[in-house]
Amino acid sequence: MSWTGDPIWLADVLRAAGLTVIEHEGWRTRGHGDFRDLRGVLCHHTAGGSANDWRVVQNGRIDLPGPLSQLVLERDGTYRVIAAGVCWHAGRGSWPGWPTNNANYHVIGIEAVSRGDGTDWTPAQLDAYKRGCAAILARIGRDAEDCVAHREYSHEGKIDPAGIDMAEFRRDVQAFIDRKDAPMSAAEVKQIQDFIVGFCGPISSDVKDIREQLCGGRQRDAGMFGGWEQLDGMTVVDALADVMGRLKALESRGV
Ligand SMILES: [Zn+2]
Repeated sequence: MSWTGDPIWLADVLRAAGLTVIEHEGWRTRGHGDFRDLRGVLCHHTAGGSANDWRVVQNGRIDLPGPLSQLVLERDGTYRVIAAGVCWHAGRGSWPGWPTNNANYHVIGIEAVSRGDGTDWTPAQLDAYKRGCAAILARIGRDAEDCVAHREYSHEGKIDPAGIDMAEFRRDVQAFIDRKDAPMSAAEVKQIQDFIVGFCGPISSDVKDIREQLCGGRQRDAGMFGGWEQLDGMTVVDALADVMGRLKALESRGV
């Protein structure tokens, strides 16, 4: 599946990958016109390293009007979503399958906050960099071959992102795309915990005894325990048995 047009799904796709996202006001309509088909992700460093680096990316410089890329990746792994439209970040260059000297209309730019000497990447930032690239590439139907360093694409002598081995980076990105060898992030674990608390919290505060929790409360007063509406009328035990059965069936199919 490929995608044509502006990536208005950027924030949702990153969040779904367990990443922390800050949506900048107006990002959906910010940009230098509309995308054509999306073919990949171009990786940069800001060459600043401060918490204010995003301001230049959003507002631009005297010689180059912003936005300068769709995303900024902070040192703690947080993504700032700056723009959904085309941004000026690629410059002149080439990469197999990308239009020469015209990548801005076809690739999403990520400006990762860093001094630019290759020594100040944080583990959280590198992890989020790979997960974010993988999530975007999966969404546009591309693989890690289209996750490219600016220095690999550029014909203008760019060096960014400095200190990142792109062969290793792409291997990890592909693993995230394939969901192989991909451990859950802390954010993903928290999502699951929140889900469990959200699901079980209201039930446990609602019921008056343990039989209700196990068997359903609707017919309690009649001395019958007829299961839970949320579980298609099954008791908790029957619902668990049903889930286990389905998991075993998936396992035996090698899923
Ligand atoms: Zn760059």
